[in-house]
Amino acid sequence: MKDICNLTKTELKKEIEESGEKPFRAKQIFSWLHARGAESFDDMTDLPKAFRQTLKDGYLPGSLEIEAVKRSRLDGTVKYLFALSDGGLIEGVFMAYRDWNTACISSQAGCAMGCRFCASTVNGLDRDLTAGEMAEEIYLMERDTGKHISNVVIMGSGEPLLNYEELMRFIDIMTDPDGRGMSQRSITVSTCGIVPGIIRLSKEKKNGAHLQVNLAVSLHAATDEKRKKLMPVAEKYGIAELMKAVGEYYRSTHRKITFEYALIEGVNDSDEDARELAERIKEAGVPHLVNLIPVNPVTESAFRRPARQKCDNFKNKLENFGINGSIRRELGSDIDGACGQLRMRSLGRGSKAGT
Ligand code: SF4
Repeated sequence: MKDICNLTKTELKKEIEESGEKPFRAKQIFSWLHARGAESFDDMTDLPKAFRQTLKDGYLPGSLEIEAVKRSRLDGTVKYLFALSDGGLIEGVFMAYRDWNTACISSQAGCAMGCRFCASTVNGLDRDLTAGEMAEEIYLMERDTGKHISNVVIMGSGEPLLNYEELMRFIDIMTDPDGRGMSQRSITVSTCGIVPGIIRLSKEKKNGAHLQVNLAVSLHAATDEKRKKLMPVAEKYGIAELMKAVGEYYRSTHRKITFEYALIEGVNDSDEDARELAERIKEAGVPHLVNLIPVNPVTESAFRRPARQKCDNFKNKLENFGINGSIRRELGSDIDGACGQLRMRSLGRGSKAGT
């Protein structure tokens, strides 16, 4: 049976019309699913009973289930392992900030990109997630925590720009005013540097205006030579080409760019690394924030995080070169914090370090 959460409002309207029902029913169902937290068709109390039965016979009201939960006792972070209907596993993280809550969601089960510090890629890519599965990650977190999620970062397992069509459908569902009505600016797409995807995203328009989602780009090193050692994607897309695409994204959208940089002891944390990083970002000429992420310490991994003072020093060096940096606040350090670790442990495998 079809997962009804995976239909945009337009798609749902078409199906409802084709079934001979009144078109306005589509809007009602869409609102129940994406704004009013319905878990079953029986929750949709303003639909006729017979119609609810028709829906039950033809659709599933969602397909994702919570498999495991880990709650931080330190800061309210909750890490989820979700089971897909085909038995696959994905992760998501609920992060509580002072004035808002953010969901970090996966866009693929597993990942093909092979970043050396990431546990999500150890078994490669299982499959792309549907837009509905991405949305359900958020809804299940809300049901479990009882808290509203206002921001989404697509930074869990997977490379969202390699699941482009579903990513666009997800954004469509999230931002539809008859559903959740989330602002485009509350959505962040994080890429390891898929240049054609960034360029395509920079051309994306809705209602005649450029899409306003935030772009986060994982750099992790400032030279092609170093980047290739950490991220195989750098073999395909060099840093000059990547920064050009980032510039194009900024010129189209006027959104500040976030650069993600995992600080790894002895690998990319020297003064010279900071200088080179500053140069690359200056060349791109875009308003930016560099998110410095001390890599998660994991016993099985050869990668270690630098001491706090070294991280501070790296940030200060960047700032001396006129680059805005911040060291990411560590959330959920008492639970499996790094991307992909919970999944790998459930699959019975050790894990590498992750961001
Ligand atoms: S860091 Fe992201 S892109 Fe790289 S392997 Fe992990 S999930 Fe994939």
